[in-house]
Amino acid sequence: MSKTHRIAPSILSADFARLGDELRKVIAAGADWIHFDVMDNHYVPNLTFGPMVCSALRKHARRDDGTNVPIDVHLMVEPVDALAHAFCAAGADRVSFHPQATRHVDRTLQLIREEGCQAGLVFNPATPLDVLDWVIDKVDLVLVMSVNPGFGGQSFIPSALKKIEEARRRIDASGRDIRLEVDGGIKVDNIRAAADAGADT
Ligand code: ZN
Repeated sequence: MSKTHRIAPSILSADFARLGDELRKVIAAGADWIHFDVMDNHYVPNLTFGPMVCSALRKHARRDDGTNVPIDVHLMVEPVDALAHAFCAAGADRVSFHPQATRHVDRTLQLIREEGCQAGLVFNPATPLDVLDWVIDKVDLVLVMSVNPGFGGQSFIPSALKKIEEARRRIDASGRDIRLEVDGGIKVDNIRAAADAGADT
């Protein structure tokens, strides 16, 4: 299977006073996607931004040639469905959520796809991948957390590499076109290890 690696910088690392400028800068620097970390002060102990900010930034997520840069929304919220719907309506291209944050994982995946977005599942450092056995046909993206969700600037948890390898095995066995994203503490000194373990985003 051919792999094209994608870089999805998080706007969590941006200057929040100048988000539009920051988006244009990372796109000019070669960002493939914009990663949008949504925290609700309930599922995680931090609060970031909602669909209105996504909607306002949608028009800035463009390359010079006019093509859209995908907005990759990572929901750290509970419950999931209403906000997943709102982010799809606000111009998100992908919406991912933590399976333990919704009562009905299969239904939430279907809801996101029915809205015309790609759907993703996110796995915390201590969360097993087992749920994928039952819903991998409805998943477009698997996101492996290499830190505990809630704050930027944390250090990479090495066990994430084993989980990436395991997720890569499951994705390849499924024969489906599913991105494998790793999120948290990614830097120039560990991005190669994440890619070698099987991450493509
Ligand atoms: Zn994220």
